[in-house]
Amino acid sequence: MTVDVETDEGLGGIGYTTFNGPLAPTLKHAVDQLGALVIGEDPLRTEAVGRKLRGAAWGSGAGGIFTLAFSAIDIALWDIKGKALNQSLAMLLGGLRDKVPAYASGALLRSYSLDQLLKSARVLVEKGYKQMKTQLALPGETSPRIETERAHRLREAVGPDIDLMCDINQRWSVNQAIDIGRRVEDVHFSWLEDVTAHDDYAGLARVADALATPHAGGECYYGITPFRHAIEARSVDIVMIDLFRVGGIANWMKVAGMAEAFNLPVVSHLIPEIHVHLVSAIPNGLTVEYMPWPLLRPRRAQALRRVSEE
Ligand SMILES: [Mg+2]
Repeated sequence: MTVDVETDEGLGGIGYTTFNGPLAPTLKHAVDQLGALVIGEDPLRTEAVGRKLRGAAWGSGAGGIFTLAFSAIDIALWDIKGKALNQSLAMLLGGLRDKVPAYASGALLRSYSLDQLLKSARVLVEKGYKQMKTQLALPGETSPRIETERAHRLREAVGPDIDLMCDINQRWSVNQAIDIGRRVEDVHFSWLEDVTAHDDYAGLARVADALATPHAGGECYYGITPFRHAIEARSVDIVMIDLFRVGGIANWMKVAGMAEAFNLPVVSHLIPEIHVHLVSAIPNGLTVEYMPWPLLRPRRAQALRRVSEE
């Protein structure tokens, strides 16, 4: 859902957030209620507005609907800030780089047959993608041998020079992750992502320690504090930040700084149209997930999928 925030000086900002499923109307209600509290505030004072709204939420943040609703408003205020200063978000945040890599996501799914997967991968390579993400932890009947074979066949199909990432979406146990992770080490995935339950910091750390392949995680974390736990536990080698769940632009930058202090790179989760600014603004920004769901879902996300299915 989108939110329009208007100012008495004629500038307006657009923010958005998302929450699939039956609680979406509840999220809209939360955005409306928080929005009412912003009326009369200075849109340039995003931290002050943030403190006010967090205060109004009492103990209901940072996990869940409050943070998703807050992020929509925060994004709209940063949009106003950019328009007021006539600068892009990347420039407001320091303007480090003009370009960042992005990778194709959502086009090499675990639901595909092996043939479909290999065909899609070849099409993506032909289209010029240099980085792309697939998924393991296959649905239905599978085994470490089947998982491993699929990974090897995919590597053969795209060749040695394509960066391949692999998302497990929390579907393995710690031991499965170590077992299959070792079997696919010679596939040279750029990262394995969310190999087991996102809040099993100690379990994830065991996996990260056991494998040469980096472990990426963080898309499920709300607010900034879980990142502290993950990074302190060394359960992530690559920090993935979701703009909506982390709680907006400033929180995203705070986590990126935390990662930088721990010598860790940062990648984004969904929302590429904003994340391209954020990843380009930080010295430890690695790549942007190109999965244009929130605003472009009807056309471009399907177009990407069509491309991969051609
Ligand atoms: Mg993921």
